[in-house]
Amino acid sequence: GRLPFIAGNWKMNLDHLQAVAFVQKLHWTLKDAKHEEGSVEVGVFPPFTDLRTVQTLIDADKIPFALGAQDLSQHDGGAYTGEVSGAFLKKLDCTYVIIGHSERRQYHAESDEIVADKVKAALRHGLVPVICVGETAEDLERFGASAVPVGQLQAALDGLSAGADVVVAYEPVWAIGSGQAATPEQAQEVCAKLRGVVAEKLGADAAARTRILYGGSVKAANIAAFMRQPDVDGALVGGASLVVDEFAAIIRYQK
Ligand code: 13P
Repeated sequence: GRLPFIAGNWKMNLDHLQAVAFVQKLHWTLKDAKHEEGSVEVGVFPPFTDLRTVQTLIDADKIPFALGAQDLSQHDGGAYTGEVSGAFLKKLDCTYVIIGHSERRQYHAESDEIVADKVKAALRHGLVPVICVGETAEDLERFGASAVPVGQLQAALDGLSAGADVVVAYEPVWAIGSGQAATPEQAQEVCAKLRGVVAEKLGADAAARTRILYGGSVKAANIAAFMRQPDVDGALVGGASLVVDEFAAIIRYQK
């Protein structure tokens, strides 16, 4: 089976000092609750400026969280002011990198083509891309739930070799930060189609192995219902990942 993955996308929140306090508190909250470490993979995705600090803390205190970044450059290095390359992230022990989050598509004009280039850059540096796809409210009305995310994922996986190691996150844009999550059935329907795209592009083995996450207003009260869906393997959590007790409760959804 696929190891469930609960990932916290901090977005532009928590400076490096706040990050230390947060990660320590989350770790001890899970320890106090006697959370079974191997049952769920926990990932934190801090801002770039926190990565070194969080890496050092995780390493020193043997904290069982995977580290990821929220974006990377499609280039490997050179004259790209303000950009951060996959090579740098890899050196900071990042395992994952979020690519194509709707906020980057919307506010930073990231096209399907840029997203595909970034996915290749991540893989080139040994990082696992967490590829975000999802429809806006307008897309939903015009095309239904799955057409846009399916198209985005096809574009993101185009030209990769069979068996490439990726994570997919289905995040309906209308559900992000709105308090209005998709229903577990809606999420299942789209995630099943996305698994079909992985099969088509990366092969059946990869499709069986690839974690597909749901994201958009996930909280402690709704996580278990999402996790009961056969094609939902975890969650990409925004707002609720910044509240220690709430995020700990999401990680402990089996309890
Ligand atoms: P919220 O959990 O705040 O809705 O954000 C979801 C998200 O965008 C995670 O990447």
